[in-house]
Amino acid sequence: MTPGANRLGEFDLIAKYFAPLARRAPGAFGLKDDAAVFQPQPAHDVVLTADAVVAGVHFLLHDPADTIAQKALRVNISDLAAKGATPRVYLLTLAMPPTINEAWLKAFAAGLKRDQTSFGITLVGGDTVATPGPLTISVTAIGEVPRGKMLTRGGAQIGNDVWVTGTIGDAALGLKVAKGDDLGLNEKRRAAALNRFRLPEPRLRLGIGLVGVAQACIDVSDGLIADLGHICEVSGVGIELLAAQVPMSTLASSALAAGRVTLAELLTGGDDYELAVAAPTTARMQLAALAKRSKTNFTRIGSVVRGRAVTTRDRDGAQVRFARLGFTHF
Ligand code: ADP
Ligand code: MG
Repeated sequence: MTPGANRLGEFDLIAKYFAPLARRAPGAFGLKDDAAVFQPQPAHDVVLTADAVVAGVHFLLHDPADTIAQKALRVNISDLAAKGATPRVYLLTLAMPPTINEAWLKAFAAGLKRDQTSFGITLVGGDTVATPGPLTISVTAIGEVPRGKMLTRGGAQIGNDVWVTGTIGDAALGLKVAKGDDLGLNEKRRAAALNRFRLPEPRLRLGIGLVGVAQACIDVSDGLIADLGHICEVSGVGIELLAAQVPMSTLASSALAAGRVTLAELLTGGDDYELAVAAPTTARMQLAALAKRSKTNFTRIGSVVRGRAVTTRDRDGAQVRFARLGFTHF
């Protein structure tokens, strides 16, 4: 990091705010070495994933620093959950504009600490640099899964059920609220929507329980239709999605009924971080039990069919078409 970006020097900053987060990992060497060591359990594969969040793209610069930290970590935990992996350690790369001060860093570290405890993951290293551009936070998360058992996007088979966790579209509503749309909702409901956008809930327990049961899994980050499309593409199948079965919160259904949001916006909006799953019909009881155990809503929303893409049908069986399938950066 170049001096001037922060009054505290680079190494003092790491020692003060980040080293305490690495205390529980002996392989982190107190964040005083060039690299960290991670040892998976015997007979496990190491699962690696990275996701960056950028101010103005994934969060807004005036969002609370602790929730920015939590979102940066959670989007990665969600990827591990989608692979059935148990989180272990993570690396954190921070590119900070000169506007970042110590109060911000303190809140940021507090957010990380909270989620380290919630999700059982520990900081083991990273990089800290100055940037003239927007605040950028890149996390590399490392988890583990019994050898050869990682869930992929590629295993969906014709005849499988398609399931999704939680509710779909709340984060899209939250983003609208963040941009100043009141959605005709009262303040409490607007806050709830905003919270779903700022603080996704990775479906970790359920994801881990899918290992050995599900055929394919993905986390819904770009939008339900787009992400189901990714399963289709990699598995070489089609998916028939029943729009009326897609679980929606009362928040989303009332905004939809009031004409404040379209079905397309809810089904193609990003940032839900729910899990979409393809699983054999013979696993229905087992999956219902898993949902109960994980205290997670889990709903059947369609099936895997011959084809190459997602076909969405309304209550009458008519095809619903979308102008855009989901979020893409480019
Ligand atoms: P190098 O000189 O090898 O680039 P750095 O000076 O970037 O190493 O980092 C020194 C130590 O601090 C390393 O252990 C690195 O992992 C850790 N570190 C740097 N930035 C962060 C960060 N944002 N979060 C966690 N650890 C960090
Ligand atoms: Mg070094």
